[in-house]
Amino acid sequence: MTRKVQVAIDGPAGAGKSSVAKAVACAMGYIYIDTGAMYRAVAYRVLKAGLDVDTDAAEIGRLAGQLGFEFRDVNGEQRLFVDEEDVSEVVRTREVGNLSSPVSAIPAVREHLVAAQRAMATAGGTVMEGRDIGTVVLPEAEVKVFLTASPAERARRRLEQLRGRGVERDFDEILADIKARDERDSTRAVAPLKKADDAIEFVTDNMEKDDVVEHLVNIVRRAQENG
Ligand code: C5P
Repeated sequence: MTRKVQVAIDGPAGAGKSSVAKAVACAMGYIYIDTGAMYRAVAYRVLKAGLDVDTDAAEIGRLAGQLGFEFRDVNGEQRLFVDEEDVSEVVRTREVGNLSSPVSAIPAVREHLVAAQRAMATAGGTVMEGRDIGTVVLPEAEVKVFLTASPAERARRRLEQLRGRGVERDFDEILADIKARDERDSTRAVAPLKKADDAIEFVTDNMEKDDVVEHLVNIVRRAQENG
């Protein structure tokens, strides 16, 4: 009898976490949870409500506690619904992405989202992706991975990804966004981006995605058997 385990994948923006996490979840028949999308969704609602991240932190914290998050499979694609609104596309804009970082530094926002994320992972069989999954959200996860790559490589990948969606952006602008987000995410007081002591680290600059996925799938299988 194999037992389904929890897989935590952390790392900075653009390291390839999402595509790796999705592929591992698919190979294992696990549920994929993108926690970054949840922080982005709060940022989107902050913009929609006309709140200011510098002056309305308490209200933003309350707002985060009122939102109902649900990941749903729609035609084989995972979509995020917030109170029945499909926010999967709107959370990908540059404006929402940049605001998600200061919004995620508000302690009350993190409290609410971490509670929601833990509830989603209770049954095991989850691949959860974020910044603080192995350190804070699921410290007992059987498999912890820290995925990273150099800022320039991450900017190059983001540029390609956007191009694939028909969006043209400037390399230097993307690189600057990535560096600013890294800095904010790793220096914030609450749950900074940090490799868990027991996480396996992959620096993916010169690695093919398929190799990373294959390696990880083997690790997850072994963890299941040892469970
Ligand atoms: O991963 P993604 O770039 O979509 O995350 C958006 C933002 O949400 C990040 O810049 C980060 O500040 C925040 N985040 C976080 N904790 C997580 C996931 C994302 O603080 N577990």
